[in-house]
Amino acid sequence: MKTAIIHHPDCALHDTGGYHPERPERTKAVVDALRENFNDDQLNWVLADKAALSWVEQVHDGAYVRQIEEACLRGDDVLDRGDTQVCMESFDVARLSAGGAMLAVDQVMQGKAKNAFSVMRPPGHHAERAQAMGFCLFNNVAVAARYAQQQYDLKRVAIIDIDVHHGNGTQAAFYDDPSVYFVSFHQYPFYPGTGMAREKGAGEGLGYTLNIPLVAGAEYPEYLLAWETEVLPALTDFKPEMILISAGFDAHIDDPLANMKLNDRDFYELTELIKDFAMQSCGGRLVSVLEGGYNLEALARASVRHVQSLCDVK
Ligand SMILES: [Zn+2]
Repeated sequence: MKTAIIHHPDCALHDTGGYHPERPERTKAVVDALRENFNDDQLNWVLADKAALSWVEQVHDGAYVRQIEEACLRGDDVLDRGDTQVCMESFDVARLSAGGAMLAVDQVMQGKAKNAFSVMRPPGHHAERAQAMGFCLFNNVAVAARYAQQQYDLKRVAIIDIDVHHGNGTQAAFYDDPSVYFVSFHQYPFYPGTGMAREKGAGEGLGYTLNIPLVAGAEYPEYLLAWETEVLPALTDFKPEMILISAGFDAHIDDPLANMKLNDRDFYELTELIKDFAMQSCGGRLVSVLEGGYNLEALARASVRHVQSLCDVK
């Protein structure tokens, strides 16, 4: 079986205003690099579809969803006091981005692909229940997790966030929920300010959030050590039935927004760790959802390495 790549040219319609790091060229750079480096025996190319609002509203307040729609239709250009730009088309593209993550779940759960990577924007992991932030409108990976649970009756889903920023929105969505285990590797202290090791969940969800704050300048051995000593034991106990990756590539050494030192190859190795665990725990059911990554060349190269692991190219 192949790896599914979920994409849509309309991702480029989400216009963030010219000088914004989260720009339309990002998804095109990844798609072009994947087309160049893989053949049709390796990848299934699948066009994304807009998420039904009922699924988006599993994670976000209905009033918030309507507020985003109205802001876009009104022609507002900024949400979240400044860093989350929108245009008239952004509401529809955000639905498409969430729908891409859901379609990636379908590809894997229906046995159409061995795993899947949704190459869509805007990203999602900073978006909270009623708050756009950090370039994110809807929390795509959180919507996909709820969709996997409800559409396919999965009891336990794990989300592993490798974006250099803490996935505050995803953490908040499942903080008191023991059915979704959230792991985040991130630079700390750093934007958005959350993600301390002592944030471990609350109520019934206590012990189902695992934060791996890493100091600026961290390299792959620090990720590997945390994986082996903390993440792998915790996920082994949890026994997920599907694993979602919040795949940000902004921990790359060439990324302009952060200070970590992962190289292209490290993204292959990191994906291998997760994929090997998915093979052991849940038959390889693995869905990756694009988050950040702001140096176009580094984003494209690291994404190629990520997909080399997903489709078993050495
Ligand atoms: Zn990021």
